[in-house]
Amino acid sequence: MSATIIDGKSRAAALDAKVTEAVAGLKTAHGITPGLAVVLVGDDPASDIYVSNKVRRTEAAGMRSIEHRLPADTSEDDLLALVTTLNDDPEIDGILVQMPLPKHIDTDNVVVAIDPAKDVDGLHPMNAGLLVLGRSALVACTPQGCVDLARQARGGDLSGLDAVVIGRSILVGKPVSLLLQNENCTVTMAHSRTRDLADICRRADILVAAVGRPNYVKSDWIKPGATIIDVGINRIPAPERGEGKTRIVGDVDTEAAKAVAGAITPVPGGVGPMTIGFLLVNTVMAACRRRGVPAPTIA
Ligand code: NAP
Repeated sequence: MSATIIDGKSRAAALDAKVTEAVAGLKTAHGITPGLAVVLVGDDPASDIYVSNKVRRTEAAGMRSIEHRLPADTSEDDLLALVTTLNDDPEIDGILVQMPLPKHIDTDNVVVAIDPAKDVDGLHPMNAGLLVLGRSALVACTPQGCVDLARQARGGDLSGLDAVVIGRSILVGKPVSLLLQNENCTVTMAHSRTRDLADICRRADILVAAVGRPNYVKSDWIKPGATIIDVGINRIPAPERGEGKTRIVGDVDTEAAKAVAGAITPVPGGVGPMTIGFLLVNTVMAACRRRGVPAPTIA
């Protein structure tokens, strides 16, 4: 058996097309153009690429994109002042502050400063709390992408399935676990202190790996036919590409896992493209809620 490859690139492209259609509809029916502000502090090359991709796809979907690039030595007070300005700007529907922030800035202070109604990253305690309550909220983008891809692979219904999520971060592991519970999965959240992790993983119909360790999940941890969602983005040396070259791999030993799993996300090209897809979805949702117009069905 060779697993079906879950194509995150084409699913994200389909999502972008639906967002573009929804944005055109909002413009025609209500004269609304959703606006997304992206703030980048410093010159981390990976963050720079992420931000450029976000800006490009926001504009391609017909939305307004506002970019703020600040120097690495920007003070926390200055960043918070910018967030307040964006909170008060009626034309801005979504605010995304690119993480990680330089060490001298307290990330929590920045996250709580963002108006929860504009928190398209879904990280504000208000939105995280609403997710726990199972109520409508702006939900973190990568977790939404994970669950969407699992639904695609499983014909749309995850009800009753056993799901194991490795990782319990605020950004990925916890919200993925809550979303899978909302899909009526029976969820186990594993972490660095979990005992018998391989045994626990072998029970999973859906296995989400959000660990940050290259090729960590082995093929003999996988239940035959399981759906594997690999969130990890790990850069490893790739001498075969030339001296000093690197390549990106996930948290799952993908090549070996393909022989056992029913479906698996590749890295790159799986979960990664979905994150921006749901950022655009969240921006449209935030725009509709803030401006009191009915939200279109996108995903
Ligand atoms: P994180 O905050 O470092 O969390 C990692 C989690 O993995 C923690 O809960 C940790 O457990 C757990 N863990 C670490 N070592 C473990 C082990 N040996 N066995 C079992 N669990 C272990 O990372 P994150 O922000 O959640 O990100 C996880 C990965 O996803 C990273 O590779 C990141 O780059 C990637 N990512 C990808 C996207 C995307 O768009 N595709 C977005 C976000 C993140 P403890 O809680 O016990 O420490």
